[in-house]
Amino acid sequence: LLARVKDVCRRNGLLILSVLSVTIGCLLGFFLRTQHLSSQEISYIQFPGELLMRMLKMLILPLVVSSLMSGLASLDAKTSSHLGILTVAYYLWTTFVAVIVGIIMVSIIHPGGAAQKETTGQSGKPIMSSADALLDLIRNMFPANLVEATFKQYRTKTTPMVKSNKAVASEATPQRILIYGVQEENGSQVQNFALDLTPPPEVVYKSEPGTSDGMNVLGIVIFSATMGIMLGRMGDSGAPLVSFCQCLNESVMKIVAVAVWYFPFGIVFLIAGKILEMDDPKAIGKKLGFYAVTVVCGLVVHGLLILPVLYFIITKKNPIVFIRGVLQALLIALATSSSSATLPITFKCLLENNHIDRRIARFVLPVGATINMDGTALYEAVAAIFIAQVNNYELDFGQIITISITATAASIGAAGIPQAGLVTMVIVLTSVGLPTDDITLIVAVDWALDRFRTMINVLGDALATGIMAHICRKDFARDVGTEKPPPCDA
Ligand code: ASP
Repeated sequence: LLARVKDVCRRNGLLILSVLSVTIGCLLGFFLRTQHLSSQEISYIQFPGELLMRMLKMLILPLVVSSLMSGLASLDAKTSSHLGILTVAYYLWTTFVAVIVGIIMVSIIHPGGAAQKETTGQSGKPIMSSADALLDLIRNMFPANLVEATFKQYRTKTTPMVKSNKAVASEATPQRILIYGVQEENGSQVQNFALDLTPPPEVVYKSEPGTSDGMNVLGIVIFSATMGIMLGRMGDSGAPLVSFCQCLNESVMKIVAVAVWYFPFGIVFLIAGKILEMDDPKAIGKKLGFYAVTVVCGLVVHGLLILPVLYFIITKKNPIVFIRGVLQALLIALATSSSSATLPITFKCLLENNHIDRRIARFVLPVGATINMDGTALYEAVAAIFIAQVNNYELDFGQIITISITATAASIGAAGIPQAGLVTMVIVLTSVGLPTDDITLIVAVDWALDRFRTMINVLGDALATGIMAHICRKDFARDVGTEKPPPCDA
């Protein structure tokens, strides 16, 4: 029995540590609340958590650049055929659908509490029109300066301007209301007074160009993706840079693998610090529970309803039989929280249980592990809107569009490793000006949600391979024995 317990601990060390750190963090936070610490003391308690956040932010740039460039370079090097275009189009479309599902779920369940009629402007943050936000999003896709994009993104500044009453008066009669009076005390006059009842001057907001702190990850994603595609087309002359990117990607993943061992320690202080800061920790705990339920509901709707129905419509085959074939891979995804680590098992399941053409699986699966993360995209959208709800920020339509596009981009930029989505979450938050520090709000439940979203990421890749195998079956039947995937006329 002791040997079995040891084995379980060895294989699930990080998971056990994560559960422990959440528990210890809560206990520590609630205990320290009774000690009435000063804000300086609280900032010291928060320091290890702050370090965790700094590590996460530090990893964004190398992670996004290397995974996109090496992934897309190998995609294009393999083939620029229709199969490639079709696969990427399918992946982008289903990821976007997942984001929409997430947005609908979070809008219905509203886990962050009832929204108050308060705009970001009234709470001291700049007001920005949705048109400005959308234009900023497009501007950020094309950074004018790549070095600047690593620490700054373009954001329109909105400054208040007072329209003078004179200007109003030139169009209509001056609306100045003054009441004169005399204040008396015990029959004797104390002083004259004048009461100005003129309506307050009209304030308009003027948009000016400006930049804000925070990396322009969207611009970096677009640039890296374009570079990756071009490198793939260059063939042998692009090979040195491609292998550099692969090497960089591997080493970043190794850094992440080491950093995750610090995460449980950081989580203790992140949670304790947040509990110390919070007005009503119990209310946040309830909200966090609803947030987790929202993410899981969204994942279930997308993974067990929308994707299987899509599979059935396209292939006319039973999706339950297909999913049963990849169940082992789904369980590995649940256990490892990594779609990359699950890849060999997904291959095995698809080839042995679902009898998918090896050449298609070889192409569609690794591309999916790089760019297709439906679960991650759905979670990023839900988390961003949840953070907005908790802060009572009312997001307008343009900001929701921004979230849906950046959540799609952020999931493409995320690596198939544990909690990579938490790293790229910063992209979505900064795109609409939400506080990135509030990622700490969702860290407590992220280790659990990561497992469920990784399952959906793997399921999405597997179903996509099944669909592509069906669509391209005739072309591949013609090319039996060919190692390179032939053109697909689907
Ligand atoms: N753990 C996920 C995966 O490997 C990525 C994430 O959402 O953090 O697919």
